[in-house]
Formats: sequence, structure tokens, C-alpha cells
Amino acid sequence: MNLQNYQIKKYNESPELSNKYTKLARKIAMKFKIRLTRSQKRKFCKHCYSYLRPSKNSRVRIHNNQVIIYCEDCKKYTRIPLLKTKNK
Ligand SMILES: [Zn+2]
Repeated sequence: MNLQNYQIKKYNESPELSNKYTKLARKIAMKFKIRLTRSQKRKFCKHCYSYLRPSKNSRVRIHNNQVIIYCEDCKKYTRIPLLKTKNK
């Protein structure tokens, strides 16, 4: 089982634990200089690194070609520009 599936499964049981694993995943990625993919970046808050579950602790909006993610844990917004991709 990979870490992400584990986080989703564990989130409902313990949000704190999934936040811990988010920090861990980030730490490992930094250590080995691996970039997190765009979809991975959207899964956690870049301010408090809590694991984001839309409708549970985050809200996702699209405005001015940006994905705006509102984190209800730290009350901050994360903006990710929407890039024009070729049918992907
Ligand atoms: Zn946050």
C-alpha cells in the first residue's frame, strides 16, 4: 500500500496521524530531492502541511485561472495556477 492510500484510509480514523505522514512524505521528498507532483501538492496545505480533504477541512475554488484551496485548519489560501495542458 502506498503512503497516499494509507493517508486517505487513516484520515477518517485520525486526522493528526495523516498530517504527520504528510510531513514525513515531504521530508523524504526533500531529502532525496524529489519533486512532489502537482496532484500531490494539492493534497496538503503548504502553510500548515495538514492533509486536505475537500469538504472536510478544505474548499477548492477556481478563479482567474487559478485553483484556490482554502485550508480550514490554518485559514489560509493556496493558489495554484491552471496551466494549459495538451488534452491531459
Ligand atoms: Zn493549512
